[in-house]
Amino acid sequence: MAYVVTENCKNCMFTDCVEVCPVDCFYGDETMIYIHPDECIDCGACEPACPVEAIFPAEDVAEDQEKWIDINAEKCEEDGIENITEARDPLEGADERKTALGF
Ligand code: SF4
Ligand code: SF4
Repeated sequence: MAYVVTENCKNCMFTDCVEVCPVDCFYGDETMIYIHPDECIDCGACEPACPVEAIFPAEDVAEDQEKWIDINAEKCEEDGIENITEARDPLEGADERKTALGF
């Protein structure tokens, strides 16, 4: 089972996570990023790197976040999705959102 990016990632793009992935299996659109389940090697390096605790092993995803397992897989295969391998500037409002989430 791969790792999964969940709801807290929306409107973040701090992208601390992508910097630590040894297989560059993060993909992103304009609002958040996703992990390709067939490329993730389950190393776990990204989980503690996320400042808003958005990343979980698929088997530990909370019940109300389980939809993200399929969303990650689908989004990574969408036309126009971009492989993100280096950190970017966070999205506008990302710091405020992080505070609002309690981090
Ligand atoms: S660090 Fe966390 S919230 Fe930010 S892009 Fe990565 S998974 Fe999303
Ligand atoms: S668990 Fe490892 S391989 Fe999978 S996305 Fe995170 S850093 Fe990349």
